[in-house]
Amino acid sequence: MTKITKDNWMCIICSSASHDSDEFGKTLEEHIKRQHGIDKKIYDRFVAEGIGASKLKVKMLNYPNDIKLAMISFLSQTWGPTFNLEKYSDEEVNNMIKIALKGKTLSTVFESLNFTFQIDGLSRASSHQLVRVRIGSGFSQKGMSDAYYGDTDYIIPASIVAAGKLEEYKKAMEETRKVYIDLFKSGVAYQDARFILPHCVTTSVVWTVNYLALKNFCNKRMMRNQSWEMNALCELIKFEMEKVYPELADILVPACDYSKKCNSFGNLFEGCGKYPLEKQHDRYVFESAQIARNIKFNNEYVEKTINHNKSVKPVNNHFLLLAQEKENIDKEFYGKYAHEICDELKKSNKPKQVSVDSGLKNIITTFNQLYSYFEQYETTNDSTKFHNYATAEKLEDFKDTIMAVTLLIFNKNRDEVISETWHVHQVKNKKYNDGWYYDGIRGILKDLHRKVQRLKTGLENNQLSCYQETDLYDTLLYVVFLIVGMQSKLPLKGVQNVDF
Ligand SMILES: [Zn+2]
Repeated sequence: MTKITKDNWMCIICSSASHDSDEFGKTLEEHIKRQHGIDKKIYDRFVAEGIGASKLKVKMLNYPNDIKLAMISFLSQTWGPTFNLEKYSDEEVNNMIKIALKGKTLSTVFESLNFTFQIDGLSRASSHQLVRVRIGSGFSQKGMSDAYYGDTDYIIPASIVAAGKLEEYKKAMEETRKVYIDLFKSGVAYQDARFILPHCVTTSVVWTVNYLALKNFCNKRMMRNQSWEMNALCELIKFEMEKVYPELADILVPACDYSKKCNSFGNLFEGCGKYPLEKQHDRYVFESAQIARNIKFNNEYVEKTINHNKSVKPVNNHFLLLAQEKENIDKEFYGKYAHEICDELKKSNKPKQVSVDSGLKNIITTFNQLYSYFEQYETTNDSTKFHNYATAEKLEDFKDTIMAVTLLIFNKNRDEVISETWHVHQVKNKKYNDGWYYDGIRGILKDLHRKVQRLKTGLENNQLSCYQETDLYDTLLYVVFLIVGMQSKLPLKGVQNVDF
């Protein structure tokens, strides 16, 4: 894979690259300042957040051993007797190749060269465009009817950040992911659950293509009024090509670099401004094409948006506050109060003797009682009953029962269950940006309520299966949250008007 270095770069916002004719000799820093109005620090944050083309990877898997042999055979076949490379001097061979690369021979010569690429982290939106290259191409793509997409990544176009809509976008994606997982857990097959998936989910494609088709593709899709993601794909392909056949990489350029006129797809879309229109009276059919190259960021907004991961307002996050009182917190670590959780998990070392059935019934009854006292508190503002019931011993016992049932159902040992729960905790913290339970004990109880009701339904339908596995881990985790929250006197109702 091409390592993009200081002098060898591609902008993840608009996909301009160091080998583009209008960027020769310029640095990435100059480009992002000029085109997007941001400095390298903010740009690096975009990369860390996975904005734009930062997730896209291209690797050349296979390429011809010797382009000269294949090209000269193709070229000379029409005019000469049986082909013999030795007939030609090195100079003649190089000249013929040069002429061919300039497009002055039959273009079929390029069909003699085949390349295979592994493409990862491309959106389904763009893979759909890619597979329209039908002539001279073969594809193999990650399916949706035989693969799980509940943990798949998704693409975030930089224009969404520039418009100040990153949070809304992420929220919608996480919501979609939740529904997908829920459908799947409810028994909907991959091939039907996939209908909820949006175009931005990432995919992997292996593309095998002859050079003629590749060149045509790049000539069209490298134009700046094309999607930035297709631009990025072409640029990364070009970087890969530069490593093996620089002479072939050199002519992977937008078609307008040859003509010096703007005429993309018959001026269907507005041009990028690099070249004048082909004819004076020409006009664009769609004038509002978003040209990624022109995306500008409002610095103030960027600060606010991109920082949200790193600086959840501490006042809203009681667990974070709790953790900040402790020393030795690993700043890079998601879930800064994780040590509390882990300590609490490890405490229950005396395995409780229960059966799955009686244990689950116990969990459900205990929790429903607890929840009903909480609901009473919500209407009356009197928490006496809740506090009398949710004692430290009661909660410990509740946790031990869940641990015992989990051990029985999955036939695992305690360490495995603790490490799984720990894992769930890390994943969730990462997903929710360390911002759990700004809604106090109520937030924890609501989540716990959802999980316990699912266990109840499973028990009633006699369908406790692997689908309940995460529910049990979640339940265990939430109970630990509850214990830690109660110990640290987390407010019952949390904070109003939370904004993060
Ligand atoms: Zn750019």
